[in-house]
Amino acid sequence: MTPPDFIQRDIPLADLNTFGLPAQAALFAAIKTPAQLASLIAWPEWRDWPRFVLGGGSNLILAGDFPGLMLQVRIAGRELVAEDAAAWRVRAGAGENWHDFVQWTLDRGWPGLENLALIPGTVGAAPVQNIGAYGLEVAERFAHLDAVDLATGKGVTFDRAACHFGYRDSVFKREAAGRYLITAVTFRLPKPWRPLTGYADVAQELETRKIVHPTARDIANAVIAIRSRKLPDPAQMGNAGSFFKNPVINATAWTHLAARHPDLPHYPQPDGTVKLAAGGLIERCGWKGKNLGPVGVYERQALVLVNRGGARGADVLRLAQAIQASVRAEFGVELEPEPVVV
Ligand code: NAP
Repeated sequence: MTPPDFIQRDIPLADLNTFGLPAQAALFAAIKTPAQLASLIAWPEWRDWPRFVLGGGSNLILAGDFPGLMLQVRIAGRELVAEDAAAWRVRAGAGENWHDFVQWTLDRGWPGLENLALIPGTVGAAPVQNIGAYGLEVAERFAHLDAVDLATGKGVTFDRAACHFGYRDSVFKREAAGRYLITAVTFRLPKPWRPLTGYADVAQELETRKIVHPTARDIANAVIAIRSRKLPDPAQMGNAGSFFKNPVINATAWTHLAARHPDLPHYPQPDGTVKLAAGGLIERCGWKGKNLGPVGVYERQALVLVNRGGARGADVLRLAQAIQASVRAEFGVELEPEPVVV
């Protein structure tokens, strides 16, 4: 049986990952509808190929060519599915651009996602990584998602508990990695809306703008301004956003670390653990603004690795490992990369 006509061969991926890493996919299919996915799963050779589901490519390091079938989710659509006294429920296709979706909700007067403005990537990728910024994680606004089980072709719904959300983490990065293709996500935006301005950068930006009682739009504008200043635009300089998760250590480890580095920024968590700022650790190791081959540590934000031009996946991993070794030697802390390496 011939493969579905929308499958393409030997497709270059450099424009499909925000780090701009060169690689090819042996097979590639852009999925615009769940029906298209069904026809793919009905193709007998479907099971013979390794698969990878691609969103916006903004949290991805391509270590080399992908010898299987890459599925790019382009499922569109946005709608208000319900509203009552307690919340708005808004649904979006997994292929929708995340930031455009956030702006669309705000334009319609449905606040709640403003702290997550300007995060690169797609709606479908947001729960996979449980994207978060400025004191809000997408898990807090998540109702459920629709997915297709790639093993059976059946539709499945995941509620919040089934997603096993953690810090920049979910079941889709662990037990269920590679098994499901997310087709749509439904968000619950609670009423009454309350502004989240606890992060210093946001509070400062609002103060500079002389805004005392911010609207959701004011917060989104503040977040957009901060992110534009601190983070490189992938269209100008390849990058995958924050490269490492913020390490979380137990109270005893913090006591030992604090004895040697009392001024280290740290954030005690409700469960007694202590979150450290990965970017601060990297900066203190002297990496900020430094390069290793064609990859560097962004000069305005040490948590972001950037493509200085012509980088390959191996170059990125070499720099990441060098940084991990420095932080381990200086602080005894393990840094875990945030992007998926393929
Ligand atoms: P920052 O303000 O330089 O702070 C460094 C780290 O300290 C942050 O990662 C943040 O942890 C933590 N932090 C700061 N204020 C805090 C508070 N009041 N309570 C608890 N933790 C606090 O951070 P940044 O690098 O410019 O990033 C700003 C925000 O955008 C952060 O929330 C960050 O996670 C997010 N961001 C995410 C990505 C991504 O790719 N995932 C990329 C860039 C920025 P948290 O990370 O837990 O918030």
